[in-house]
Amino acid sequence: MNYLIKGGLVLLCDNGRYYTEEKDLYVTGGRLSFLPPKEGEYEIIYAAGQLVMPGLVNMHTHAYMSIFRNYADDVSFDEWLFQRIMPVEDTLEREDMLWTNLLSCIEMIQTGTTCFVDMHMFEGSSCQAAAESGLRAVIGRGLVGSDLNGDGRERLEQALREREKYGSDMISFALAPHAIYSCNDNMYRQISELAAELGLLKETHLSESIGEVENAKGKYGRSPVEIMADTGFLEGGAILAHCVHLSDSDAEQIRRSGSTIVTNPASNAKLGNGIAPVAKYLGMGINVCIGTDGVSSNNTLNMFREMALLSLMQKGASADCTVLSADQVIAMATVNAAKALGLEGRLGVIAEGAEADLIFLDLNASSLFPNNNVVSSLCYSANGSEVVSVMAGGKLLMKNRELLTIDRERVYSEVRRIQKKYFS
Ligand SMILES: [Zn+2]
Repeated sequence: MNYLIKGGLVLLCDNGRYYTEEKDLYVTGGRLSFLPPKEGEYEIIYAAGQLVMPGLVNMHTHAYMSIFRNYADDVSFDEWLFQRIMPVEDTLEREDMLWTNLLSCIEMIQTGTTCFVDMHMFEGSSCQAAAESGLRAVIGRGLVGSDLNGDGRERLEQALREREKYGSDMISFALAPHAIYSCNDNMYRQISELAAELGLLKETHLSESIGEVENAKGKYGRSPVEIMADTGFLEGGAILAHCVHLSDSDAEQIRRSGSTIVTNPASNAKLGNGIAPVAKYLGMGINVCIGTDGVSSNNTLNMFREMALLSLMQKGASADCTVLSADQVIAMATVNAAKALGLEGRLGVIAEGAEADLIFLDLNASSLFPNNNVVSSLCYSANGSEVVSVMAGGKLLMKNRELLTIDRERVYSEVRRIQKKYFS
């Protein structure tokens, strides 16, 4: 279906500065245009009183984890991961995880995310949920172990199988070694070689906690970032979640490699891991994006909440209100993500020929009214509840708050069943 989006206030960008302009937009074959198509019919979407902006990109999450919402709050990182999450995780069954993934897709759509980068444990489940929901996704099967031809082989085979089965214009793949404490350096080396060979993105957790950095130094005599550099993992760019605890030379290595840091402010704060010095990373010229991490540690997938938290925490922690402008934060949730995914100019931007991944916000929502500064309201006032319609790849996923691709009642009833199965 082709569309004319009529009368909306459109969020545009000029040299890093966002501004709004009332403009009609056309969607033809999943791409945006400011000009009407030469032929063919189109449906009109009336957007008067709405802001039309690029969909947000959640650059790091684990969509299956919505089952863990508020399951292990207010405990230490080690207790949270090793004593609470992992023991239950080991009992989860693949077919149940389709439903928890779909629950995450509902929350992402309702709060304005149109693309997510996932790291998962259950073959095909997040691919299937992404495909059913219509969201754009980059999927990485979490890899652990010491040898891709030995203990890491089964998970790698799953990763390659789902790539074969679910790869599409909307779903692409990354190789995703979990972390330096669950994979060894040999595994990172092998994965780096394979990613180069297959032309795949790479994502991993990196320098999330002080304990992780100290343990790596004890075992390898080097920081986690130095290990990544030595194994070739940073070469050609990698997506690095967290990066809370980096030395200056760690950060410099990342900058030089062209890799992307994905900051997860809520998760890092909630697990007591600290606050990543994001303003410093941006100042160095590192590409920085935003992720929510999984619901188990956030406990939402709401990117508007994450944008506000990020900006406020950076200003508060540095006692400097000039760091991280609204413009920078919006870019981190859109164009910086496009850069990390190799989709610059195509994703995270309203431009001629760009992907039609759009969200529509009600400008009359009490949280945005009286619209004194629509751009800064996206960082400081929006909470996701203003999102009324969502489009990804030119397909409407939600219109006037009605979900069009997911049967919400069915998902809720399945998740209720699953929740009883694992937690009672
Ligand atoms: Zn994570």
